[in-house]
Amino acid sequence: MKLTTKIFIGLILGAIVGLGLHLAAPDLFSTLDAYVFGPLGTVFLNLIKMLVVPIVFFSITLGTASLGDPKKLGRIGGKTIAFFLVTTTIAISIAISLAYLFQPGSVDINPAGAEYEAQEAPGVVETFTNIIPTNPIQAMTEGNMLQIIAFAIFIGFALAMLGKKTEGIYKLVEQGNEIMMFLVNLIMRFAPYGAFGLLASAIGTMGIDGMKGMAMYMFVVILGLVIHAIVTYGSAVAFLGKMNPIKFAKGFFPAMTVGFSTSSSSSTLPISMKTAQENLNVPKPVSSFVQPLGATINMDGTAIMQGVATIFIAQVYGSDLSFAQLVMVVLTAVLASIGTAGVPGVGLIMLAMVLNQVSLPVEGIALIIGIDRLLDMLRTSLNITGDAACAVVVAESERKYGIDEDAKRMEA
Ligand code: ASP
Repeated sequence: MKLTTKIFIGLILGAIVGLGLHLAAPDLFSTLDAYVFGPLGTVFLNLIKMLVVPIVFFSITLGTASLGDPKKLGRIGGKTIAFFLVTTTIAISIAISLAYLFQPGSVDINPAGAEYEAQEAPGVVETFTNIIPTNPIQAMTEGNMLQIIAFAIFIGFALAMLGKKTEGIYKLVEQGNEIMMFLVNLIMRFAPYGAFGLLASAIGTMGIDGMKGMAMYMFVVILGLVIHAIVTYGSAVAFLGKMNPIKFAKGFFPAMTVGFSTSSSSSTLPISMKTAQENLNVPKPVSSFVQPLGATINMDGTAIMQGVATIFIAQVYGSDLSFAQLVMVVLTAVLASIGTAGVPGVGLIMLAMVLNQVSLPVEGIALIIGIDRLLDMLRTSLNITGDAACAVVVAESERKYGIDEDAKRMEA
């Protein structure tokens, strides 16, 4: 049986077992969750998380070094960021339009009891200045992705410039990368069990009660995710990436299931990179540059949730947003999704920033927090799919500049 099929079965069984126990034997669920589901999921999560920092460091260093030419790096970087910004803006626009069309917040919801303690969201300027790490080792111990990426680009650039002089270190990075990819393959064999544990635990805890009354909100978010995946990514992959979107979806599906079960773009990164390289034929230098960056700053699924949630909360509290405010929502949601770390649930915290910007009550978040777990899974799948779509598009556009030869050089 193929690994993807196994993971899929793990997910479905997990959902069935979790829901069944939640309904029929909640006490048994707590025990099983504490000793079986929880630990299974955590072991899997830890196994892949263990690889994230070294993979990001090795692969970006190697990717940058093998591109060699700073012009190439600038070109790929420019295209990547442009793709991220454009698709995220489209994502929020879809979300806002759907929220106006379906009016999820016009149902009878009483916001009176809603309480939510807003958490501090980092400022925009700091997010940018902090990209340069003052202490790269600390960045690695803290798992600060943007900082690790910045440091790795510098080292890769130096390796490219120094050439023969630093051959030894280049080899070291290359072999480090080999080791990481080998371990990803190994860990993936455990994925079906991990997915089972994560799903059983999540669904068993959540149940379906919390979802009542929120059905319309969920529907609109999910519709937004689906439309964005099919229309935006489908056409980007087909027209810019010259790849059949069905082939793209099928090839990337294993990574989507892992994104779904972990709710974390960062944790899924090792697997999304491997999947894009092997199944979508994305050359390593592109994959190792675009995907770690995307897993950190490109979150279209999160942007969609934030767009729908903002309009939803405005509707529940009966406040009309002006056109200028809507533009503000688009702008801040782009920034908020960039600032969202690729870990579970952060998108909801960053929503506070959007709500503040248009003077909506942050307590509104309490209304949607109960069902966010499930939506988090779905939007994370979309988040990483956007990174892969970008990688396919950038790879195609770089073929005429000999990206495949760079990849070969990287292999050799
Ligand atoms: N969990 C999402 C991710 O890792 C981020 C979020 O929206 O909370 O991609």
